[in-house]
Amino acid sequence: MRPSDLLIPQPAGLYCPLADIFIDPVFPVDRALITHGHSDHARAGHGSVLATQDTLGIMGIRYGEHFAGQAQTAQLGKSIEINDVRFTFYPAGHVLGSAQIAVETKGLKIIVSGDYKRATDPTCLPFEPQRCDVFITEATFGLPVFTHPDLAEEVQKLLRSVKLFPERAHLVGAYSLGKAQRVIALIRQAGYDAPLYLHGALEKLTNYYANRGARLGLLKPVAGVPKEDLQGAIILCPPSAIQDVWARKFPDPVTCFASGWMRIRARARQRGVELPLVVSDHADWPDLQRTILETQASEVWVTHGQEDALVHWCQSVGLNAQPLNMVGYGDEGETEPEAQAS
Ligand SMILES: [Zn+2]
Ligand SMILES: [Zn+2]
Repeated sequence: MRPSDLLIPQPAGLYCPLADIFIDPVFPVDRALITHGHSDHARAGHGSVLATQDTLGIMGIRYGEHFAGQAQTAQLGKSIEINDVRFTFYPAGHVLGSAQIAVETKGLKIIVSGDYKRATDPTCLPFEPQRCDVFITEATFGLPVFTHPDLAEEVQKLLRSVKLFPERAHLVGAYSLGKAQRVIALIRQAGYDAPLYLHGALEKLTNYYANRGARLGLLKPVAGVPKEDLQGAIILCPPSAIQDVWARKFPDPVTCFASGWMRIRARARQRGVELPLVVSDHADWPDLQRTILETQASEVWVTHGQEDALVHWCQSVGLNAQPLNMVGYGDEGETEPEAQAS
């Protein structure tokens, strides 16, 4: 069997004809396996969904309880067989519940990694490298310029600014699934123990994380808190809110944005970000390379992001590599359906 017979890139997503399933389909399909809850990977309306318990929980919060005809829980490390193809979910270190999916038959093993990172994240299980024949990877930050900085230092930038400007509010833009909760956990790890305030669009997912054991400390909804009580406070919100009229109700706000894209100064300026925090939930350039080598795969398929640079690097170290040019997957800028709510 050739790898291209086991998994085929189609407009809806990666398709396994033997098992008749799609992985992370961007259109509604009969049977979907889903790596994680970001809206470019997890969509509503499939006939059946197989995913980890937390991914199913997150989909339920985002799309309502009837997000699919049927939902089945995948246990990490435990295989499920469909028509002689074995599917196994392993942690991907990207967001709570995120998984890589191993697809195996007749001695051939392909890993679909979904989105992943190798940097510390107190809110989810770390990525577990798996040996495989073909490794399918994203390349969101697949350029040498992307080397993510020390996380603790990024958090210190924020905390130093809070100390320096005790009369100003700090608004931290962070994606509602994963990034916001990770930033909160990192702020706590740095020893900050005052209440943290949440924009309404972050509440449900953040509460879900807390219920699932993330140590997020005291969190309060920001709605209804008098302006003067928010001097010196840290408020987390969706990235779109930092430029919104919503942001004007805070005392002289310092606008911050936690994103891997904050590496690029022009992006920060474009978005009117005063304090960029380089915090990414994707592997940086060195970690993409390290991960590919650790899987010992002889073949690499690149789904989305900076495909060309990563394919070129793979070929330079003697691996077969090809871009899949898959459409419909975003970068960190996942569409934020809840961002409109205040
Ligand atoms: Zn993602
Ligand atoms: Zn993605």
